[in-house]
Amino acid sequence: MLGRQDAFPSARTFVLKAVQQIPVMSSLSSCARRLTYPTPKDRTVFTPTRRSGISFLHSPGPTPIPKEVTDAMSRQPMELGDPGVDALIATCETQLRPVLGLEGGDVFLFNSNGHGGWEATIANLAAPGQCVLIVGSGTFSDAWAEHADAMGLKVVRTDWQEGLPADPKEVEAALRADDKHQIVAVFLVHTDTASGVTNDVKAFRAAIDAAGHPALLVADVVASLGAAPFSMQEMGVNVAIGASQKALMVASGLAIVGVDERAMEVSRRNTTPRYYWDWERRRSPLSYRKFCGTPPQALLMGLEASLGLIHREGLNEVLARHRRLATAVQAAVSRWSEGGALDFFVKVPEARSVSVTTVRVAPGIDAEALRTLARDRFQVGIAGGLGQMGGKAFRIGHLGDINAPTVLGCLAGLEAALSYAGIPYGRGGVDAAVRALSLASE
Ligand SMILES: *Cc1c(COP(=O)(O)O)cnc(C)c1O
Repeated sequence: MLGRQDAFPSARTFVLKAVQQIPVMSSLSSCARRLTYPTPKDRTVFTPTRRSGISFLHSPGPTPIPKEVTDAMSRQPMELGDPGVDALIATCETQLRPVLGLEGGDVFLFNSNGHGGWEATIANLAAPGQCVLIVGSGTFSDAWAEHADAMGLKVVRTDWQEGLPADPKEVEAALRADDKHQIVAVFLVHTDTASGVTNDVKAFRAAIDAAGHPALLVADVVASLGAAPFSMQEMGVNVAIGASQKALMVASGLAIVGVDERAMEVSRRNTTPRYYWDWERRRSPLSYRKFCGTPPQALLMGLEASLGLIHREGLNEVLARHRRLATAVQAAVSRWSEGGALDFFVKVPEARSVSVTTVRVAPGIDAEALRTLARDRFQVGIAGGLGQMGGKAFRIGHLGDINAPTVLGCLAGLEAALSYAGIPYGRGGVDAAVRALSLASE
């Protein structure tokens, strides 16, 4: 039996020939469908034993961890009665408040990933049988709905349309239809990390108010906290859920939940039996109670260090940097898309996230193989497509401890992988990114 290598002695020549045989590319996407791309996997039976230099991590979580943070996480723990433990927790809570845009209320830290933040929020706000409205925005809203459903809630959902941000009008209509006010809360994902769409949080608060509905607004800011402008107070968000391993630049393992007084009140009235996740129980001044057991000191030390870095750089500058770098990535993807085989998943440029860019690949191209090639041969770690985009997209993370050279390195490595794999792409993506960075006014 012929292996693919034998059938196609050179993947690149094969593609070039195929392209040359198509006299007029009437439609680039139909061209892409007519080509059978050799998968780069066939050319990368390549297991490096050592990777020289540095590898670029451009996944939308986990993100690169700064040395200050890994150093902090490697410190020895304190005994539990040491006032240093209380001080450590207090610093994390205080320094998170400006990032969350929350002055009153409470900041809770759970020794869990982001899903634990979801679990805590669901358990505290609504009892089984009660209703929440989940705004459709992508794979993460689907997963959140599944989570709430599994915990016994009645889940009402708005539809989501591929490549578009969620529509606040649908939320307003759903709330108006709920004249008995059974919906306890509206759950909105700020940046859906799968689609790369960022929703306009303020517009959803306005929709709830326009419907005259008392539902709380709960925002999942796991992928946007510390990257995109956000403020619970200014945006009318009652509960915000974050996690440590994205723009906050810490290892995974901490969920961050900001809760305002109104949401605390709703949770006090909620009859769901709960213990570990219970907000009220965790308001204790005792650190052992705050964490329902031993506080995760290493992660807290890391978070304290990362928040120190964020405030030292200045929160506004951190957000501006994310915007600049996202613009550079988008400039490159825009240029690449001229080759006809790649395109933005998010069709509305203003709704493209500053944290992650999802790039759709034409049918016939194996996005997973491209990712393997980028990782193994060019040392660029990017993420794959999720949900129905599995194998059909890749995602470039551009959040956390990144800068212009890491972004340019990531884009150059990806461009090299595209070239190596023989995937048609518009030339000059890296140039376009350089230009975008040189034009950035902030
Ligand atoms: C990463 C992510 C989550 C899940 O966080 P885990 O830490 O993996 O549980 C939830 N929501 C969004 C928007 C995310 O990006």
